[in-house]
Amino acid sequence: MDMPITDYLDEILDEVRDNDNGEVADYIPELAAANPDRLAVSLCTTGGHMYSTGDDDIEFTIQSISKPFAYAIALQELGIAEVTKVVGMEPSGEAFNELSLDKDTNRPMNPMINAGAIAVNQLINGSDSSVEERVDRIVDWFSRLAGRELQVDEEFCQSEIATADRNLSIAYMLRNYGIIQDDAQDAVLSYTRQCSILVTVRDLAMMAATIANGGVNPVTEDHIFDPVVSRHAQAVMASAGMYNGAGRWLAAVGIPAKSGVSGGLIGTLPGQIGMATFSPRLDGQGNSFRGVEIFTILSEVMGMHLMNNTGRVNRAVRNWNSENGSTIIQLQGAIDFRASENILRGAIQEDLEKRVVLDLDRVSGFNRVGRRIILEGLRRLTMDGHATALFDPDNVLPDPDLGDGTYPEMLTEKPFVTSYEMEVDTP
Ligand code: GLU
Repeated sequence: MDMPITDYLDEILDEVRDNDNGEVADYIPELAAANPDRLAVSLCTTGGHMYSTGDDDIEFTIQSISKPFAYAIALQELGIAEVTKVVGMEPSGEAFNELSLDKDTNRPMNPMINAGAIAVNQLINGSDSSVEERVDRIVDWFSRLAGRELQVDEEFCQSEIATADRNLSIAYMLRNYGIIQDDAQDAVLSYTRQCSILVTVRDLAMMAATIANGGVNPVTEDHIFDPVVSRHAQAVMASAGMYNGAGRWLAAVGIPAKSGVSGGLIGTLPGQIGMATFSPRLDGQGNSFRGVEIFTILSEVMGMHLMNNTGRVNRAVRNWNSENGSTIIQLQGAIDFRASENILRGAIQEDLEKRVVLDLDRVSGFNRVGRRIILEGLRRLTMDGHATALFDPDNVLPDPDLGDGTYPEMLTEKPFVTSYEMEVDTP
């Protein structure tokens, strides 16, 4: 059996592929030359499993998606109180490059707009750090988050520096109010190099999954940020990550997110997944057109709105027993995306007997995607030649049509197992 999740992602890409609305950003000469048709999506679970499709090995500059991670680095290095002295956490409702400060405190409103991001960049590695050392340090942190060595696209950076008048005015404004101490040119160079770090969607999904996972990279198991830092960074993403569309985004899609002008978009579902899309054409707010579409579909179809309450459990498989030609899998709790992924991965890793029985006696319910993935898994097992059966005394999985009009055998008695020793504990 193949994992159906990658197939779902492929289907979603097919659904949005023909949408050529929007334009690539052209205020940076190198960005204007981007191939507008690139399209990719990656999803990394907090168990460390990556599902990815499309142009997922193409590198592009991280741009504003660097902002939540740079913010998390500053929080980790200095603590929330110190960082909050120079940048607030209120959504500004303004464009990303607005020349504005909080009227009462003179701080930038939040770290997701350029004024806040330039101020945050200046905190990393100490405010007296050289540009060189600061950027090296940021690249090191980002590389740990992505689980591989990243680098700055110097040519791209120079192309942006040549047209960076607006960011320079922001830096002069920050200096005027004592928010940054460094020379304005150096501050913008440091920030622009941060924005010019090259990443793929796979890198971004892993970086997002790390903050969704309380700061531990789920693939390398590197402890990078404290849980409170990860939570804080995601909270500010949720309220201010989508430029001046942030409020509508949170209500409609409900996934903490950050977009960048090169067409990347990341999102986090705390405790579940980090995800990323890449599609360079942007909408009026500067967000990737098809990226927004993909996230909207994922949110709706896969039940990923943060405000949905699924009552999740960590281990969906209570017991796993293979004897006398049957594999009996006893499930428990609420079966959502993460739980169903966990169950099917177990089914892929373990040797299954001819007959596969799911005991749903202890299952409290399925959400839409949990139901869809389990039924699809059963359909694929049937196609692989297994006989499938369900024990569902409380009817938590009504009408278990496998999608092709066939049904698993419905048991009226609880499947009997002689041993409760073998447990599957895939992370
Ligand atoms: N380098 C870009 C700038 O500061 C980042 C903007 C973005 O991705 O939104 O103008």
